[in-house]
Amino acid sequence: MARLVLSQITREFGDFVATDRISLEIEDGEFLVLLGPSGCGKTTLLRMIAGLLEPTGGTIAIDGEDITALPARKRDLAMVFQSYALYPHLTVAKNLAFPLRVRKRSKTEIEERVRAAAEAVEIGHLLDRKPKELSGGQRQRVALARALVREPKAFLMDEPLSNLDAKLRTATRRELAALHRKLGATFVYVTHDQVEAMTMATKIALLNAGRIEQYGTPAELYDTPSSVFAAGFLGSPAMNLLPGTLSTSDSHITVFAPGIEAVLWPGSTPERDIVLGVRPEHLQLHGGGAPEAVPTSGAAFRGTVELVENLGRDQLVHCRVDEERVIASCDRAEQWSIGDLVVLAAPAERLHLFDRSSGRRLE
Ligand code: ATP
Repeated sequence: MARLVLSQITREFGDFVATDRISLEIEDGEFLVLLGPSGCGKTTLLRMIAGLLEPTGGTIAIDGEDITALPARKRDLAMVFQSYALYPHLTVAKNLAFPLRVRKRSKTEIEERVRAAAEAVEIGHLLDRKPKELSGGQRQRVALARALVREPKAFLMDEPLSNLDAKLRTATRRELAALHRKLGATFVYVTHDQVEAMTMATKIALLNAGRIEQYGTPAELYDTPSSVFAAGFLGSPAMNLLPGTLSTSDSHITVFAPGIEAVLWPGSTPERDIVLGVRPEHLQLHGGGAPEAVPTSGAAFRGTVELVENLGRDQLVHCRVDEERVIASCDRAEQWSIGDLVVLAAPAERLHLFDRSSGRRLE
């Protein structure tokens, strides 16, 4: 059982503010991913939750109890590090037993809990080995089992997959998500990898320069990014983002930008500078001479194919639209060649509008 509540958590290093009044309510059983670019404050925040770093402002509570001043060893939270932090001279069994021995548990209880944790991550056959006799993936499981053995209130993980090769990372990602479902425990997981966040998280807190840019389910962040930053961070290839002007024309809200025809919906708006966003998979490509390609409600970008990338199942068609680059992702059955004149079209409901000066989403 662990419900974690962070209120206005701030950490300053001299004049530099690494986390700036972060408030978050992490429900019991949540798999919360702290996501964001390098230096945005993810590790700093996790270390403060763990008790390894003191906040300069704000409070942290677990299940209603204020633990801000409680030392790490009294928090009943288990941290899994990127480096695994295993004792090299001890066998796997002794590494797993270590946190329980420190807590002076009985021999039978230690044996039972070590066995159960080893089974949960399928390392029962490795108990007599030393860390140097294990692969990276196996070491990672041992580190996890050592966290499990303590039966902590919550698991804190700092990029635990970053030392694994791509294939093992994918497999371990699935196992971690399954383990979370099995245990029903609270996980707080730091990564800069959007795929890890999208596939494992029940909630994502996207951080930018020490602040929470957006908080929500993976689908909410992907489908309704709250800012240009969030729109550009999640999704690969990234959302196309083009500058334009929003105004009213013939009683319809319209976007004006070179190479773009975009009539959105009936209404009126004061003129403002915007960023127009559309994901590559929501653009349909048509031959440039096709007038029917321009949707009555939506956007059409007129451009020239500059590059076609074959991804196996799909292809990415990179187009130049005036001074901008727009990428469409489409079926490989479609035949596009460099130099083709095209119209890239998207219906109005697939478009995202952001205020250009604040970067915030317009509803
Ligand atoms: P990464 O993905 O690269 O690990 P991160 O989001 O985890 O990045 P943090 O390690 O939390 O980032 O660091 C946030 C900011 O705080 C960085 O700019 C970092 O340089 C700064 N910082 C972290 N620890 C200290 C410290 N002990 N002294 C001074 N500045 C620090």
